[in-house]
Amino acid sequence: MSVLIFAELDEGKLKKSSQEAIFYGAKVAAMLGTSATAIVIGQADDSELASAGRFGATKVLHAADGKLNEPNGMAYATVVSAAAQQESSKVVVLAKSSLADAMTARLAGKLKAGLAANVIELPDLSAGFRVKSSIYTGKAFAYNDLKADVKILAIKKNTITPEESEATASVETFSPTLNENDFVITVKKTEKATGDVLLPEADLVVSAGRGLKGPENWAIVEDLAKALGAATACSKPVSDLDWRPHHEHVGQTGIKVSPNLYIAAGISGAIQHLAGVNSSKVIVVINKDPEAPFFKSADYGIVGDVFDVLPRLTKAVQGL
Ligand SMILES: Cc1cc2nc3c(=O)[nH]c(=O)nc-3n(C[C@H](O)[C@H](O)[C@H](O)COP(=O)(O)OP(=O)(O)OC[C@H]3O[C@@H](n4cnc5c(N)ncnc54)[C@H](O)[C@@H]3O)c2cc1C
Repeated sequence: MSVLIFAELDEGKLKKSSQEAIFYGAKVAAMLGTSATAIVIGQADDSELASAGRFGATKVLHAADGKLNEPNGMAYATVVSAAAQQESSKVVVLAKSSLADAMTARLAGKLKAGLAANVIELPDLSAGFRVKSSIYTGKAFAYNDLKADVKILAIKKNTITPEESEATASVETFSPTLNENDFVITVKKTEKATGDVLLPEADLVVSAGRGLKGPENWAIVEDLAKALGAATACSKPVSDLDWRPHHEHVGQTGIKVSPNLYIAAGISGAIQHLAGVNSSKVIVVINKDPEAPFFKSADYGIVGDVFDVLPRLTKAVQGL
């Protein structure tokens, strides 16, 4: 009876959010007095798979059927469900992502499991099996009592900071039976957003809004992002105006981010924007209007002109 963790790959490497999920799953396994097994789907070499051990998995099941090379919520749910049954897992953990969103409800159906999404803490076993999750785009918390025999926990990114050990996991090939129903929806091609650091995964984000006046001024945003090793993001009007690509738009109708640091330059802080960023650990706001609403949600605020402040910040970071 091990805790099973679905670990997602990105170009053959375990995603950072999946390393967090493995670490979280291993902690839950320790609480339950059992071990943690990761299920990995797609192409990856053995040393990468074994590296799941660094985050606490003792075993990795590797499903490498060529039909699974493109992420497919239906087929992946079948594979994870089969792995959970093989391992008699009562707890299945995965990191929230668009792929996980396509899988979790299907997985819950297949395993007749209780499901909690956006989980942000380890379960409280003194109260049965209670997990705290973030709801209403981070404005409130829900406490979920999972009473089903099998429980699925979709954890929010940046919920837990993994500690790494030198351990390696054993790797076993896993080849469950897949049938044509698993491929009713096929993914023909996946196009990845370009950029040095991918926004949904980023630890640091430099974001800018209409205060930048036009796309020709984005070099000062990119310079700071480059100096920090951060991803770039923007407000909705900026992408609507085609100043920046749509995949950079954060907020209620865009990407939800939860980085360790979110720098917002020339963004007013409308509620719809905050909905996508208010799980950030530290928010720094740069705005020339001291009454800009974003300051109310900021950990640090700089009242100033972005055209003055951003280059100075970049210089300061480069000088570190
Ligand atoms: C249904 C719905 C969904 C929406 N979804 C989203 C969403 O997902 N994401 C999102 O971002 N928005 C969303 N919006 C839009 C949102 O309401 C705001 O209109 C938008 O976030 C404002 O973008 P902004 O802050 O870049 O621009 P503005 O509101 O124009 O603010 C620009 C800011 O820059 C400051 N500024 C100007 N010049 C400078 C300077 N030189 N130096 C420093 N500061 C300067 C100004 O003081 C101002 O605060 C949505 C709206 C609706 C109705």
